[in-house]
Amino acid sequence: ASRAYAAACAAAIGAARTSLHDAEERLGRLDAIAGDGDHGRGMVRGVDAAAEAAAAALEQAAAAALEQGAGAGDVLAAAGDAWADKAGGTSGVLWGAALRAFGETLGNSTAPGAPGLAAGVAAFADRIVQLGKAETGDKTMVDALLPFATAFSRAVAEGVEPGRAWQEAAQESAAAAEATADLLPLKGRARPLAEKSLGTPDPGATSLAMVFAVMGPHFTG
Ligand code: ADP
Ligand code: MG
Ligand code: MG
Repeated sequence: ASRAYAAACAAAIGAARTSLHDAEERLGRLDAIAGDGDHGRGMVRGVDAAAEAAAAALEQAAAAALEQGAGAGDVLAAAGDAWADKAGGTSGVLWGAALRAFGETLGNSTAPGAPGLAAGVAAFADRIVQLGKAETGDKTMVDALLPFATAFSRAVAEGVEPGRAWQEAAQESAAAAEATADLLPLKGRARPLAEKSLGTPDPGATSLAMVFAVMGPHFTG
């Protein structure tokens, strides 16, 4: 099961890649309203590097599997390092570090059960809050991320099956990302032109909700 889970993690990054390529222009337009317009480009650069690194780590894990187990954690950590290295920008640093934390929490040896996956999501969220120091309502990706993490761990604790729990959390995350349109940015490059962003959702929250939605079936499948 564990080797298959490393492949599932690489597939999750692949799904993120497809959806970020599709959304590149739209994310750039969102970021151009009060930010510097590079969010689509940065996310694509990051996820392209992450997908390549994940594929390479998956091959290594397969070669070493007899002695060392499966490598899901290594796949995600390698993807995160490459993402942070190549994306540029605030969001790239945060996504990269968070993916590594997610991988370190899942570990290499077995496919995570629902509680393990919830711990991984919590580690992802903690890392972003720790590094970026944004709070709820600052109009950042945190506004889509914390609702996801909270909804997922609550649903898991209630015994909801992981695939469904992830789907419900992703819906809450998407609604929360939309709702950032009413907020003024208090962190990041959009802050100096904060008023201009009223009525437009935060680019980083939008991409986060989108990516989490498409990764779900791979992580929970
Ligand atoms: P940059 O702002 O460096 O050009 P991006 O355009 O790729 O980087 O990403 C912008 C997004 O990063 C914002 O929409 C916001 O969601 C997120 N962001 C900015 N600052 C922070 C922060 N301190 N904590 C969390 N997220 C942040
Ligand atoms: Mg930007
Ligand atoms: Mg920039």
